[in-house]
Amino acid sequence: MLPSVALVGRPNVGKSTLFNALTRTRDALVHDQPGVTRDRHYGVCRLEGQRPFVIVDTGGIAGDEEGLAGATAKQARAAAEEADLVLFVVDGREGASSLDDEILRWLRKTARPVLLVVNKTDGLDARAALAEFARYGFADSFAVSSAHRQGIDDLLDTLLERL
Ligand code: GDP
Ligand code: MG
Repeated sequence: MLPSVALVGRPNVGKSTLFNALTRTRDALVHDQPGVTRDRHYGVCRLEGQRPFVIVDTGGIAGDEEGLAGATAKQARAAAEEADLVLFVVDGREGASSLDDEILRWLRKTARPVLLVVNKTDGLDARAALAEFARYGFADSFAVSSAHRQGIDDLLDTLLERL
């Protein structure tokens, strides 16, 4: 069985765009409206000379009244629990939100290793964008632009080391 990586984060942070950047497909549904990817969506990342791995896109954990108990959130949580590694995706333009805090609290309870991915950093100062999330205390955090495929190779290097 191939190792798997789950993309977890609130809606609209760019998980599906990252999925596309990692799988180099247009497979995932990317939409301006949050919550488009309802169920788990699987792709395979194949890099020359590397062991392939499965990447799981999730619908995101929304801040509705059901919060982490909602149906889509449950799917995301199940995906994270089944994965070998989790990419916690946040929005570098909006900065940390209370929903991000909530997702992180939950992620810390899962036994999975987690890397922080600060997305949408195109046109931003990468260091400042990462500093926004410094209080999350991640040893490994990456400023990327999934839409412009910036920072993806660095992320992949670390990800492959951890799998
Ligand atoms: P998801 O709900 O987390 O899967 O987010 P999507 O991948 O559907 O993206 C939500 C919105 O953010 C879309 O309008 C994307 O085009 C936009 N987006 C995603 N990644 C980036 C990025 O790296 N930079 C910018 N500027 N926009 C992005
Ligand atoms: Mg999506």
